[in-house]
Amino acid sequence: MPTSSPLILVINSGSSSLKFAIYPVGERQPLASGLAERLGQSDASIRIDVDGTKNKNPLTPTNHQGAVDALMAFLKERGWFERVAAVGHRVVNGGERFTESCIVTDDAMIEEIGTCPFAPLHNPAHAIGMRAAVHAFPALKQVAVFDTAFHQTMKPEAYLYALPRKYYRDLGVRRYGAHGTSHRYVSGETIRLLGLDPNDSGVVVCHLGNGSSATAVLNGKCVDTSMGLTPLEGLVMGTRTGDVDYGALAYIAKKTGLDVDGLEKMANRESGLLGLSELSNDCRTLTEAAQAGNHQAEETLDVFVFRLCRYIGALTAALPRLDAVAFTGGIGENSAYIRAKTLKRLSALGLDLDEEANATIFGGKSGIVSRSRKPVAIVVPTDEERVIAEDTARLAGLLPAKA
Ligand code: ADP
Repeated sequence: MPTSSPLILVINSGSSSLKFAIYPVGERQPLASGLAERLGQSDASIRIDVDGTKNKNPLTPTNHQGAVDALMAFLKERGWFERVAAVGHRVVNGGERFTESCIVTDDAMIEEIGTCPFAPLHNPAHAIGMRAAVHAFPALKQVAVFDTAFHQTMKPEAYLYALPRKYYRDLGVRRYGAHGTSHRYVSGETIRLLGLDPNDSGVVVCHLGNGSSATAVLNGKCVDTSMGLTPLEGLVMGTRTGDVDYGALAYIAKKTGLDVDGLEKMANRESGLLGLSELSNDCRTLTEAAQAGNHQAEETLDVFVFRLCRYIGALTAALPRLDAVAFTGGIGENSAYIRAKTLKRLSALGLDLDEEANATIFGGKSGIVSRSRKPVAIVVPTDEERVIAEDTARLAGLLPAKA
């Protein structure tokens, strides 16, 4: 790679952390990446992974600006600072306003992103990261890449809740989905790797991690997804319920005295794999426990798989034809156990597990895991940072615009 090639800085700013990666334009692998964490606390630190080594240092000031300043110092020390040509920011929710990645034009736009009411834990933190980056790189284009943008092609039939319409009209209550950058990348890679027709293909993408969602993608566009107004709807997750009868929550509230905040906390943080297993939110830990004979762990994973299969079936109904099911995310990419249990339940859709191939695919590999070819099941490792870097490079005019 030419040492003068421009660089893209990708920032994922959370409330107490800031992840980053530095990509040469058009490259698949970052030159460096890292994480500043415990921001806002006295022991805030920054870890930078570069040249196969990880360097961790304390931060001052112990906030987002401190993290971006430390990043800037690192870029200068490496002689890369002048090469940084644009900064890309991950944004969890763009509401209905942002339907694709776009250049951050001014502070009013950062304010609008920061006050999006549907991601109160994430969007304000993105705005803080954006302001710190504008301060550090005032001359550079800043680009926002929205997790919800890919789902904005859903029609009202898919995104409206059957609530009184005034709540959509007045409050914007509808399904926005999440993980869209991952679904977009993985569906595109699935089409490319399998040689499907981009204008005539039906794919269901299962992003299975600590947070999990599944999306139906018709001709490269999202037509339905499992997450809703917030990332609580849909599949069983590490600590989130996924779908649950509201009546069950109301009953629990009446019986226990839990208020709305208490219910929200329980449904987001104490449920899912953790709540049901009473053991762990971590799929690997539960798999090991299940294999060692822990019945509750096995039953929990069965619930996870059953819900996933129900969704794959439902999402297939949003497509004229199912060509492929793609697995991604920490569980989808690594757990042969979950993929096998899932595919064995999906014979009604024509899917047929290839046990041997399935057992060999983990740790960042992609590959086909079914004997069936129509539809086919495939593992595709996700790479959200790379998508953000590419969108940023395109919007900054460093790569040709996509047709
Ligand atoms: P996040 O949503 O936080 O980005 P990840 O995509 O990193 O999460 O996925 C984390 C999940 O992936 C955890 O439940 C973890 O146990 C699971 N996982 C990672 N490797 C394996 C494995 N080899 N087998 C089963 N589960 C795995």
